Amino acid sequence: MMSATRPAEHELGGDMNVFNRVEPIAASDEFIRQAVEQADLPSLMVTLAMVTGDASLIAPEVKPPVPPMRVEIAQQGGMSKEMQVKARRLATAALIAFRDSGQLGCATPSDALLTQCMQYLLPRDIDELRPLLEHEMGFTKDPGAPDWTRESVAPGVKFRVAVIGAGVSGIAAGYRLQQTELDFTMFEKNEDVGGVWWENRYPGCRLDTPNFAYSLSFAQKQDWPQQFSRQPEIQSYLATVASASGLKRHIRFGTEVDAMRFNEDRATWTLTIRDQSGGVTQEEFNAVITAVGILSRPSLPDIAGLDTFKGRIVHSAVWPEDLDLAGKRVALVGTGASAFQIGPSIVDQVAGLKIFQRSPPWMLPTPTYHDDIAPGMQWLLKHVPYYGRWLRFWQFCISIEGRFPLTAVEDDWVHPVSVGRDNEELRQGCLKWLATQYHDRPDLLEKMTPNYPPTSKRMLRDNGVWAAMLKKPHVELNTTGIDQFTPEGIRTQDGVLHDFDVVICATGFKASDFLAPMTITGAGGRELHRDCWDGDCRAYLGISVPGFPNLFMTGGPNTAVVINGSAIFSSECQVEYSLRAIRYLLETGQKAMNCKEAPFLDYNVWVDAGNLKRSWGSPRARSWYKNAKGRASQPWPFGMLDYWNLTGKFTPEDYVFIQ
Ligand code: NAP
Repeated sequence: MMSATRPAEHELGGDMNVFNRVEPIAASDEFIRQAVEQADLPSLMVTLAMVTGDASLIAPEVKPPVPPMRVEIAQQGGMSKEMQVKARRLATAALIAFRDSGQLGCATPSDALLTQCMQYLLPRDIDELRPLLEHEMGFTKDPGAPDWTRESVAPGVKFRVAVIGAGVSGIAAGYRLQQTELDFTMFEKNEDVGGVWWENRYPGCRLDTPNFAYSLSFAQKQDWPQQFSRQPEIQSYLATVASASGLKRHIRFGTEVDAMRFNEDRATWTLTIRDQSGGVTQEEFNAVITAVGILSRPSLPDIAGLDTFKGRIVHSAVWPEDLDLAGKRVALVGTGASAFQIGPSIVDQVAGLKIFQRSPPWMLPTPTYHDDIAPGMQWLLKHVPYYGRWLRFWQFCISIEGRFPLTAVEDDWVHPVSVGRDNEELRQGCLKWLATQYHDRPDLLEKMTPNYPPTSKRMLRDNGVWAAMLKKPHVELNTTGIDQFTPEGIRTQDGVLHDFDVVICATGFKASDFLAPMTITGAGGRELHRDCWDGDCRAYLGISVPGFPNLFMTGGPNTAVVINGSAIFSSECQVEYSLRAIRYLLETGQKAMNCKEAPFLDYNVWVDAGNLKRSWGSPRARSWYKNAKGRASQPWPFGMLDYWNLTGKFTPEDYVFIQ
């Protein structure tokens, strides 16, 4: 076998070093001391230990205790005030010495030091986590990069891959495909990359997962302005990855794949592609990676009279650029993550705001949700090599387990709302937060108190702006239930008519209609949605479906991480698995691989059982995590390490191969 020689990034027309630049430190001692005052200390201590090689910076007396992510995340990893003072003193001295030494940072620490650094941040044995952790760090190499190219495993063989979608997952797929030098084309229905981050432009749209962890392992941006950045920042990050990596030349924008059909004689897929002008063409590929997301098809409420409303109706995910809400009477239907960001952002423009709530969301107390990253911290991120990477790693470590234990269903726990002892602890913490928010408004407190288990649907980050909005005199929280839309507005179930100029439907997405509205016809002429899924989507590892050879999904059934980890991590796992599979095909000279029924069925039994042991699978739960048949078809019910291990190697025994 030939060894892989991969072209450098600049040869591919890009420069990913844009994410790795640091500036030399020329600041005074006092400036450095002040900057360190605003630092995230646990990640700074490991960074400095790594760049200086001085392990005393991560000695036990400055080690953060176990990061308790229960209701809230303990600041500075739970370090005591005295510990923080000591850590700051050590860090300041180390930084000054680093400045004076000519700043020759060491990116390749000894194995022993690296292990010490990881153990400093993680409270557990790191052995089983180590490959996953190294994948996420990527200091000097990119561990997720394929260690092969097409030419190295199958010289001269033609193998063409289609990627559908150029959001986060599509970019991950394209980036890795580019590294293999396979021939590939990406199809994107929008005019730019970004997927949901391109589409969702409603006022206030921003992340609710900490930003450093919500980034691609191979493109670790250091200069996020906030811990939870706004939509334009994330969209711009994704656009930068696409251009810096040279990926854009592979993407056909404004192009939608309507259908795909498996050709049994050639073991290929023919895609039916529609461009912006409506022109339809067909193209043939050896494999297809879908990266269309699950929150991309807006869902309008199924309420009578919607089309009779004479004012303007908008969905949160299709926000018109010309929408002027100044002085308007506005209805906001829904109180999920989108509504929670829209309401407080528009409240001061509108003449009146009525919010129609079907069920109140559980809120995660996050007082710093909208805060900028402090200037001192920004300076450190810009000047201390690898600090952004360690901060991302630290956020990632915290989220590996995250609040996952708080979602467990305990069979011996009998309670009208919560599903287990830990879940009850979370409920109590959230109730306390609610009580502080609405202590002066018992009417709102009652309406805002959920009667279903916390975490059984997406919890929302709250820093108090929702309560402040609800208490404004021109705002009403209506929980009566909508009876129907009328030409003037909304009639509630108590018969009251509410007149509006604009209705905003923040009513979510058709999340369980995976891959819709594409028509996907596999082996034997079976259509995926009609003949196979029938409204209850399933896949092996969330990636493969029997009867649909060489079709690889990202963000497929039961892969959504809903309480711990980041969706980007899962996508990268799926992409890397798919490329391992393609490599196997190329190496063995086979045309296609078809998932066997037995592993597919066994896997789904296991996943279903797992979901029943989680709050979101309990009969009391109702959210987009479940499909119309009541099965939790979206969430991944286990830990991140489990998914990493499952997708970390390709097992040919699970597939039948087509020569
Ligand atoms: P969602 O979570 O599905 O919320 C939809 C809301 O509309 C719910 O409050 C729902 O009530 C309500 N609703 C739906 N149909 C209704 C009807 N017929 N009558 C009255 N109310 C109705 O949708 P989303 O807020 O757009 O968020 C979807 C997901 O996108 C989130 O869970 C999250 O994963 C993601 N997201 C993330 C961010 C971020 O910050 N990163 C921002 C926005 C969205 P019920 O609860 O009673 O069903």
